[in-house]
This record gives sequence, C-alpha cells and structure tokens, in this order.
Amino acid sequence: MDSDFLRGRLALVTGGGRGIGAAVATRLAAVGARVVVCGRTRADLDALAASIDGVAITCDLADRADTDRMLAEVAALGRVDVLVNNAGAAESAPLAGTDDAMWDRLLELNATAPFRVTRSLVPAMVAAGWGRVVTIASNAGLTGYGYTAAYCAAKHAVVGMTRALAVDLGRTGVTINAVCPGWVATQMADQAIARIADKTGRGADAARDALTSMSPQRRLIEPAEVAHAVLNLCHVDARGIHGQTVVLDGGQVMK
Ligand code: NAP
Repeated sequence: MDSDFLRGRLALVTGGGRGIGAAVATRLAAVGARVVVCGRTRADLDALAASIDGVAITCDLADRADTDRMLAEVAALGRVDVLVNNAGAAESAPLAGTDDAMWDRLLELNATAPFRVTRSLVPAMVAAGWGRVVTIASNAGLTGYGYTAAYCAAKHAVVGMTRALAVDLGRTGVTINAVCPGWVATQMADQAIARIADKTGRGADAARDALTSMSPQRRLIEPAEVAHAVLNLCHVDARGIHGQTVVLDGGQVMK
C-alpha cells in the first residue's frame, strides 16, 4: 500500500482520543491525512492531536446541538473526505433493567449520532466524487448477546444504515462500510471485565477468560488490527468494497 495515499485528505474520527479511535487516527495520519479527533475528554484529544499534528475538538455526541457545533467547526477546516464513526459506549442489563433512559442513551450515541454526522458530511463527499465512510459497529451488530438489547439494537441499526446508504451512494465515488470487531483490548473491554468480576465474584482473570473464550482465537483483538481494517477500506483501490461488514473477531461470528 502506498505510504501517503491520504495526503491532502481531511479525516474526522469521532471518539478519536483513546482506544480504537486513537489507533485509527494515528494510522490515518501516518498515510498523510489531516485528522480531526473529537470526544468529550479534552486531555485525551489534545495528547492524541499533538502526537499526529491533528486537530482536537471537544464534543458530546449524545448532545445533538453540541454535535452540530462540532460539525460547524469541522466545516471551517474544509471538506471531510474520510469519516470514521467510532465513538460509542456499551452498557448491559437484563430486559427488565433496560429502562427507557438506557435505551435512549445507547441508541443516541451508537446509532443516531453516526447517522447525523454521516448525513451532515456525505453530501460534500458526493459533490467531490470521492469519500470514505467507515463506522465501527460490532459483531453485536450481526448477532445477539445476552443482556445487551439496547447495545445490540444500536449496532444493528448502524449496520442497517450502512447497507441502505450503500445503495443510495452506489454511483457517487463514496464508499460506506462497517467494521465489526469482537472484544477489543480497550477501556470498554476493561470495564466489561471489571463488571463481570464484580457480578460473579470470580476475579479479573476468570472474567477476562469469559471474554476471550468467546473467540476461537481465545484472545482480544488489538486496536491496531481494527485500524488496519479501516485503513484498507480508505484506500483508493478499495472502491469496490461497499456496504460491507468487515468482521474482526477471530472467527467468533461467521456469516
Ligand atoms: P473506549 O476506549 O471506551 O473509547 C470510546 C471512545 O468514544 C472514546 O474516545 C470516548 O471519548 C468516545 N465517546 C464515548 N462517549 C462519547 C460521547 N458521548 N461523545 C463523544 N465521544 C464519546 O472504547 P473503544 O473500544 O475504543 O470503542 C470504540 C468503538 O468500538 C465503539 O463504537 C464501540 O462500540 C466499538 N466496539 C468496541 C469493542 C470493544 O470490545 N472494545 C468491540 C466492538 C465494537 P470520551 O469518553 O472522551 O468522550
């Protein structure tokens, strides 16, 4: 792959301050993109932006007005050519414990925010005749897991959005795809391990084993592996990969 195939391109990575988003932002910058990262934690964003000579914009993507303000700030920087919808959060509860507030919270951040950001940025990509939209969904967007009705519903929603928009965008030069990891070694997995350890009283090692044993590879995916998949989808030669779900979970979900 050429070393600077995104030179001159502007990329927005939501939730780019840590975890998968930080790995994606770093890889996009390494192939020449100017990268904007957004999220709520100023210190994370500033540190990451400084490391890649990028731009940090704080934003709570669960707040529509704040998201619109962030998008206006991004617009002032130029046309976004690469959008990575990465910001997200997970919570788990049985059905009876999944109250309206949890449902709304998870749907707003994991589904509505990517939809609204995509709707805002895609028209300029279409006008330019080139663009890449990649949403970090989850293998929970392809199958069901226990105690995660709201998270699974939200991730299924962005997979559905990706497939529908792929039809609409077919002749525009803009591709849209979803990346669907299994458990990835980030704060999100750390929190799940702590939750399982707390609820079962079996300790952190056993809780980690519970996650890794879900995958035939018996391991967590690394953020760099997800970033690699995103980078591939952003290449000019990836223009035929459209409306797809790229699954990275060591063979956990095979469809
Ligand atoms: P993470 O380390 O918890 O990072 C989540 C990112 O999203 C952070 O940068 C966070 O920044 C941002 N974010 C969360 N709430 C936000 C809000 N309201 N407004 C703006 N930004 C917000 O988790 P991660 O694993 O990197 O997750 C990245 C994506 O991968 C998510 O969409 C997640 O669902 C998906 N995913 C993760 C796994 C996994 O096992 N880790 C598996 C499958 C899919 P702030 O907190 O500073 O706002």
